[in-house]
Amino acid sequence: KTKKNVDLALLADEVLQGKRQQLARAITLIESNAFKDYQLGQELLQKLLPHTGNSIRIGITGVPGAGKSTFIESFGKLLCDLGYKVAVLAIDPSSSISGGSILGDKTRMELLSREENAFIRPSPSSGTLGGVHRKTRETMLLCEAAGFDIILIETVGVGQSEFIVRSMVDFFMLIVLTGAGDELQGMKKGIMELADAIVVNKADGDNKRLAIKTKAEYNQVLHFLQPSTPGWQSKAYTCSAIMHEGMDSLWDVIQKFMKNTKESNVFFSRRKQQTKEWLHTLILDQLKNSFYQHPYVLEHIQSIETETMEGKMTPSQAVHTLFSNVYGDQKR
Ligand code: GDP
Repeated sequence: KTKKNVDLALLADEVLQGKRQQLARAITLIESNAFKDYQLGQELLQKLLPHTGNSIRIGITGVPGAGKSTFIESFGKLLCDLGYKVAVLAIDPSSSISGGSILGDKTRMELLSREENAFIRPSPSSGTLGGVHRKTRETMLLCEAAGFDIILIETVGVGQSEFIVRSMVDFFMLIVLTGAGDELQGMKKGIMELADAIVVNKADGDNKRLAIKTKAEYNQVLHFLQPSTPGWQSKAYTCSAIMHEGMDSLWDVIQKFMKNTKESNVFFSRRKQQTKEWLHTLILDQLKNSFYQHPYVLEHIQSIETETMEGKMTPSQAVHTLFSNVYGDQKR
């Protein structure tokens, strides 16, 4: 017990000093599926909690091929040049659905990974989307404790992952391609409504004029949508990740966003709200796990499924039976 405490205190110290090897070790604990490591990770996180929260958290999404990793390389490099410490994390929904990965397979962000002030951590590669959610959120906190000023969280626009990233960042941007036209019509309004900025990438060469036109089209649509952040008008911008163009003006936009939302208090209330939602997400996860792992459920779930499928029992009756055996008779 004592030894463990000493180790953790030391590890916490080293993370606070920004030692990246130790940060990586701490993240491995957080990501571990072994219960003991997980517990150590939680204890560590508890120690570091007072040192978290001081970064700008930025989410980045877009379809595969939109240029997310090229953008992050270019934008991350700019931030490093400005003297910031930048951490790049990812949520890859494909890894939890298929075991494969959309984000992680290619060698990504080689240039940025050579920057002394950049830390790139690939998406946790196993577990449910809920598990990946937890791991990414807690990794973000560890990075903050290690002194990272800006956290970039990348995700592919698939399923729930945009909503998960939106729920843990301050500023959320959607990277899109030119020639939106039809795509723009078909694009889910819901996704556009998450964005604080829509960035039309690949505004270079022959594509530049079209990109400017696309930007205008997005701006027209954005004008009629609910803003993602109260008091902030989301707008479209153009950039060329490959030519490193438009990066500094986007950084200006983000700084203005931070200033505005801090002055209006929206920033702080969103962070609190996010923590509260996170608490409830964890409660629901835990409830679900403990229910499905309960001996009675393990033993009877199959026969009860069969009976409901064969119409011998209604699903409501089945739920009632399961719950009264797990939690005792409940007056509702
Ligand atoms: P991701 O799947 O969203 O991460 O997209 P990538 O960053 O891998 O980029 C997909 C392809 O688009 C690559 O071949 C990039 O070289 C290219 N690309 C990315 N950004 C730009 C850009 O600003 N201009 C041009 N012309 N090509 C780009």
